[in-house]
Amino acid sequence: MSTISESVTFSVRPTQQLTTLILTLVFLALAAPTFAQKPEDRPVSRHRDPSGFPWPNGAKVAVSLTFDDGRRSQMSLAVPLLDSFNVKATFYVQPDSLPAILDQWKAAIASGHEIGNHSMGHPCTGNFVWTRYEGVALEHYDLDRIRKEIEQANDEIEEYVGVRPTSYAYPCGQTFVGRGTETRSYVPLVAEIFQTGRRWLDETSNAPDHFDPAQVMSMRMDGEDFSRVRRMIEGAKRNENWLVLAGHSVREEGRWGTRLGMLRELLAYAADPANEVWVANVSEVAAVIAQEQAREQTSTVE
Ligand SMILES: [Zn+2]
Repeated sequence: MSTISESVTFSVRPTQQLTTLILTLVFLALAAPTFAQKPEDRPVSRHRDPSGFPWPNGAKVAVSLTFDDGRRSQMSLAVPLLDSFNVKATFYVQPDSLPAILDQWKAAIASGHEIGNHSMGHPCTGNFVWTRYEGVALEHYDLDRIRKEIEQANDEIEEYVGVRPTSYAYPCGQTFVGRGTETRSYVPLVAEIFQTGRRWLDETSNAPDHFDPAQVMSMRMDGEDFSRVRRMIEGAKRNENWLVLAGHSVREEGRWGTRLGMLRELLAYAADPANEVWVANVSEVAAVIAQEQAREQTSTVE
C-alpha cells in the first residue's frame, strides 16, 4: 500500500534534496552555539567590565551554601564538614524542626552559621496533595495569613535559639498566595520583613548590580556531583556573580539529597585561592553587595 510519505519522497527530486540538506546544515552550524549555551553561560554585559565586582579576598565569584527544612543530617553531617573548612552556611528552618536537637542548632549558630525562616507550615501549591491534607495550600492563603505565619515563625525561632532570622526561603520556591484574579505576590512582604528571600530551582546565579534581595535566585545542589556544581561555579564566575546553592538532606550518596562527597570536593576547591571563590552565608554576601551599592550611590552623588 502506498503511503503519503512515500508519495512525497518520490515527488522530491535529488537536487532539491541536496539543496535542503545543505540549507539545513548551514542553519544548524549557525544556530548551534546559541542552542549549546545554557542561560548560565551567556555573558551579562556589564559584568564583562574588567574591574568586576569587588568580592572579598580578590575572589571572582561568591558562593553560598543553603539547606532547607531543618533536616537532622544537616547538623550531623554537613556542619562538622563545613566547620573543618571554616565555611559557614545558611539553614532555613520551620520552628518545629528545632527542639529535637536544639543544642546542635545553637552550637552551629554560635559558630557563625546562619539560621533563616522557612515558614511555619511549609505552604506550597495545593497541586502537592499533602498541602491540602495539612491545610497549607497557597491557593487558600491571603497576604494577612502568610504575614502572620511568617512572623510567628520568626518569633518561635527567636525563642528557641535567641536569634531573629533576617533571611527567608520561600517554601517550594513559590512566591504567591490566592488564585486567579485574587492571586497576590508575597515578595513585597518578604522584602519588608527580611534582608533577603531565597527562591528555589532557578537557572541562574545573581548579578550583584541587578539582583533583587527579595528574590535571590538559587540552583539545586541535591543529587549533583561536583563536576556539575563546578560548572555552575565557573558559569557564575564568568560574570562575577553570586551563586546560591540549595539542598535538603545531606547524604553520603544518592539522588535525594546533597552528597557529602560533592560538598567535600566543593569546599576543597573553594579553599584553594587559585580558584578565586569566596564562600559565605547568605546574609554576609547580601551585606557585601548592599555595602557596595551604597558606596556606588555615594560616589555617584559626589
Ligand atoms: Zn522546604
